[in-house]
Amino acid sequence: MRLRHMLPTVDRMRLHENEQTAYDVVIVGGGPAGLSAAVALGRSLRSVLVVDAGSQRNLPAAGAHNVLGREGIAPAELVREGRAEAASYGADFADGTVRDATRNSEDSEDSEDRGFVLDLDDGRSVAARRILLATGLLDELPDIDGVSQAWGHGVLHCPFCHGYEVVGLRVGVIATNAPQATHQALLFARLADRTTVFANGVEFEDEQRTDLDAMGVAVVVGDVERVDVDGRDVRAVRVSGEPHAVDAVVVGPRMTARTDLYERLGGRPEDHPMGVMIPTDQFGATSVPGVWAAGNAGNLAAMVATAASEGVLAGAMLTADLLTEDVRTAREAASGR
Ligand SMILES: Cc1cc2nc3c(=O)[nH]c(=O)nc-3n(C[C@H](O)[C@H](O)[C@H](O)COP(=O)(O)OP(=O)(O)OC[C@H]3O[C@@H](n4cnc5c(N)ncnc54)[C@H](O)[C@@H]3O)c2cc1C
Repeated sequence: MRLRHMLPTVDRMRLHENEQTAYDVVIVGGGPAGLSAAVALGRSLRSVLVVDAGSQRNLPAAGAHNVLGREGIAPAELVREGRAEAASYGADFADGTVRDATRNSEDSEDSEDRGFVLDLDDGRSVAARRILLATGLLDELPDIDGVSQAWGHGVLHCPFCHGYEVVGLRVGVIATNAPQATHQALLFARLADRTTVFANGVEFEDEQRTDLDAMGVAVVVGDVERVDVDGRDVRAVRVSGEPHAVDAVVVGPRMTARTDLYERLGGRPEDHPMGVMIPTDQFGATSVPGVWAAGNAGNLAAMVATAASEGVLAGAMLTADLLTEDVRTAREAASGR
């Protein structure tokens, strides 16, 4: 492993011989957030298991942009490298899905100290002192023929992720709601040669129309029948039988964080104008003691670098949180001597 030589020669099994029954942290989700947390925790010699179902959100895209030092890297390659880096600091991995998570009721009554049991879809159960939910979100795409087929290639959502790739091209924004479509169209209009909003039944306010008009964005009324695609390339948006030629389509998916485990553990997801998310404090702690969240699970707007940064921060704060418990346990043990 590339970084192995940098590790101090520590026998991790011996280091954790009294606590091998439970990982310090089980990280659910191995995207940028989960893997970055795994690196931070591994470097603090915390025992970590990353369970990942392998559906990182940007996998349909050819490259991940705005990733400093690895600009344009293929998403799957970023995951491969992140896993290797986390593994070099001792992180364990399980490919699969965490189906359920419960508090370990046999532990102490102090809710801060209670551990968890997570059930994997392969039948295994693992114990954890803390859980980090880095489970990402689901993009709910508009139900229009051609959209899911070209998603992440000819069908886009984020001007910062893919805007540069459509500089000088023709872009069609299919509206789901007026404020979002106006915002997306104005951002893409600065980059594209021609930007058209397809209203698809959405009503725009006069001020939105004026802004779009001022930036040279045309609005086509009428229901969108389908997006004409050729493989994953987009050719046209079809309205009332008429094809409007475009090179790329922009949609506004509803973003639904994966909250099932959080809810199982007693958490309450929060509505957001863009979808649903897990509420956290600035460090990633949720209101459920011992349960943390990072990346898109708790921040629908997080891009790759943001998700990674939240993962590092959560990993660092989890290390401190575990230390508080370790010190308390050590003090109790010392006073009992
Ligand atoms: C098409 C597209 C292109 C994008 N391009 C860019 C870009 O160019 N630049 C950029 O900065 N951002 C881009 N993004 C955004 C980027 O994908 C996200 O910011 C990033 O993936 C968030 O990382 P994450 O770790 O929070 O979640 P993810 O990367 O989505 O990872 C979450 C992981 O958790 C796993 N998981 C979920 N539930 C469970 C469970 N119960 N058990 C086990 N595993 C589970 C999932 O399978 C997944 O592998 C793009 C998004 C899309 C949709």
